[in-house]
Amino acid sequence: MQNEARLLHITGIVQGVGFRPFIYQLAKVYGLFGYVKNLGNYVEVLIEGNKESLDKFVKELPEKKPPLAKVKEIKTKNVHFSGYSKFIIVPSESGVFENSIIPPDTAICEQCRSEIFDPSSRYFHYPFTVCTNCGPRYTTVRTLPYDRENTTMADFPLCPECEIEYTDPLNRRYHAQPVCCPKCGPEIWLSDSEGNVLVKGYEAISHASDLLQQGSILAVKGFGGFHIACNAREEEPVTELRRRLRRPEQPFAVMAKSAVVAETFARLDGEGREYLTSHRRPITVLPRSKAFNLAEAVTPGLHNIGVMLPYTGTQNLLFDCVPDAVYVMTSANLPGRPMVVENKEALEKLKGIVDYYLLHNRVIANRNDDTVIRIVNGRAAFIRRSRGFVPEPVELPFELKASIGVGAE
Ligand SMILES: [Zn+2]
Ligand SMILES: [Zn+2]
Repeated sequence: MQNEARLLHITGIVQGVGFRPFIYQLAKVYGLFGYVKNLGNYVEVLIEGNKESLDKFVKELPEKKPPLAKVKEIKTKNVHFSGYSKFIIVPSESGVFENSIIPPDTAICEQCRSEIFDPSSRYFHYPFTVCTNCGPRYTTVRTLPYDRENTTMADFPLCPECEIEYTDPLNRRYHAQPVCCPKCGPEIWLSDSEGNVLVKGYEAISHASDLLQQGSILAVKGFGGFHIACNAREEEPVTELRRRLRRPEQPFAVMAKSAVVAETFARLDGEGREYLTSHRRPITVLPRSKAFNLAEAVTPGLHNIGVMLPYTGTQNLLFDCVPDAVYVMTSANLPGRPMVVENKEALEKLKGIVDYYLLHNRVIANRNDDTVIRIVNGRAAFIRRSRGFVPEPVELPFELKASIGVGAE
């Protein structure tokens, strides 16, 4: 059969989302040879083989792409056949990435989530479990290109087991920059209001969940900042939090384990349900249900409520012992100030506001507050476009003749 060669230039969100190993695997399926490499604002693929396999490869590429990848355009041209004898992933070169797009942070995926609840997995109860399809991204990036040594994960050298997963193109964790495990990754701990460490690891999370049930107010460090959390089912902790924050009325967002729990106090229709459960996990402002059974102090006098589902491992584990718990999860910032991101800063600035701290030692390189979406006339409107969306570009539906600057307000 006649061999042919094609050169593909693929643009979109194709870096840091498992795109190159996906191409590698797809090439293997069709017995094609050549290479894939990152070239900054696009990925280049050279594939060689018989015409029928090449056609299938090109057709299936956008259909089977990894969940977090977004293919904007594929330019294909026939090129001279060079006779590659295998398919390779070419290592990234430095200096060509200035225009590359950093992927946004994404909620823990179903596979990783099941691992943290599986006693036989080495990721059991480990809150920083991630793979190519999930986890923090933007909030870890110190500089480009998006490689591990340029992220806050550089502080945690890979252990041999993680190294094997990270370097195997057929593994779900191949080149997933935030990969880590209980042996080599960040640590979580619970501290009192003075910063004294009370307990570490999963015990810290289960203890935090007990404290929340008992009415304490906690600071919880996440991907892109801190939340202040308390039990949203009881009036007293919510009222106490309002008193300490001097916020008598501003509604608080809440977090529930699943859409099933959220449905007991909010109405989830079409778009609202879709956004709430999407891997971007925004705070979705939904109408309160008739059976609303949370503390009235959560959204005093309002007919709607901001709801989100857990997106970090820690948040998922906080629901482990009390699956129907609902927590207030409000951004930890003082009025008019940006959200707190550093442990030391949290201990100083949240003094008198929280009773305990659930902290970890991964540095937050970029502050990233929760996104807030409201459904207006059946369509989603951004109140705040942030975690899960930023820094993805906004595609304008028209041509812009001049440049514009758009600020937060
Ligand atoms: Zn995952
Ligand atoms: Zn490890």
